Amino acid sequence: MFDTLSDRLGSVFDKLRGRGALNEQDVRDAMREVRIALLEADVALPVVRRFIDSVTEQAVGQSVLRSVTPGQQVVKIVNDALVDMLGGEDVPGLDLNAAPPVVILMVGLQGSGKTTSTAKLAKLLKEKQGKKVLMASLDVNRPAAQEQLRVLGEQVSVATLPIIEGQQPTEIATRALQSARLQAIDVLLLDTAGRLHVDQALMDEMKAVAAIATPRETLLVVDSLTGQDAVNVAQSFAGQVDLTGVILTRMDGDARGGAALSMRHVTGKPIKFAGTGEKLDAIEPFQPSRVAGRILG
Ligand code: GDP
Repeated sequence: MFDTLSDRLGSVFDKLRGRGALNEQDVRDAMREVRIALLEADVALPVVRRFIDSVTEQAVGQSVLRSVTPGQQVVKIVNDALVDMLGGEDVPGLDLNAAPPVVILMVGLQGSGKTTSTAKLAKLLKEKQGKKVLMASLDVNRPAAQEQLRVLGEQVSVATLPIIEGQQPTEIATRALQSARLQAIDVLLLDTAGRLHVDQALMDEMKAVAAIATPRETLLVVDSLTGQDAVNVAQSFAGQVDLTGVILTRMDGDARGGAALSMRHVTGKPIKFAGTGEKLDAIEPFQPSRVAGRILG
């Protein structure tokens, strides 16, 4: 995860740490290299600027440069700034504080990992939090979508709403809510139709479903490997629906990290979970301090 970025930053900071004394020019030179590393990692330019300005300002302070271990102090400042960039110390967890069934609406582009993430989240809620979970696919556009969720449901031993051919997404949502109430379900996960790009008809469909289901969480699933595109997609969705968070998938294969590092500051939305593999238990709550720790090695 983020290996390329980690290697680049590692070599900059090894140089800094290796030196006994540092002057302001040393810090500025190092920050120039960090800037290039972040831009190559596909971090959004305004986010890079803010990061470099903040770190430089703190690091050239006399107390840092005059300290016994200036290199280490600079790395600590960078670590804290990375944590902030990734969302801060306190990323909100899933908010399930509502009368059951608590609805989680899953939205995103086709191929982002939305259906897989729905099943992963269902498994996590069931196994780690002891919740009674029901999943329903509202995707009537892609022929095999509902069946795909059913199969995943079997794999994670979570119930899925029986499929009735010919129903519209809002009808399926209504039926899912009724079924969830009857079965005393704690959490209802609704997997909406994927889209190839941000398209108005599907956005309207998503809004109609949200109006019926009143989700407590609306989670956007985006693919980490798409870098700034993932951030742009998040901005488009955030302009249309009340997103409460992001699930960033394929972090296992992302050497760069640009989506993770830009998401919070560009969109204002927290990354709540990271997808870290194809297996159905490969999902983790997103913890900025752990991710920053991995990046800095
Ligand atoms: P959807 O069209 O958005 O519903 O996408 P799917 O859930 O069908 O996922 C598309 C592909 O991405 C599948 O082969 C998944 O196994 C894979 N996938 C999803 N999440 C992850 C992840 O976090 N890491 C990896 N490596 N693969 C993932």
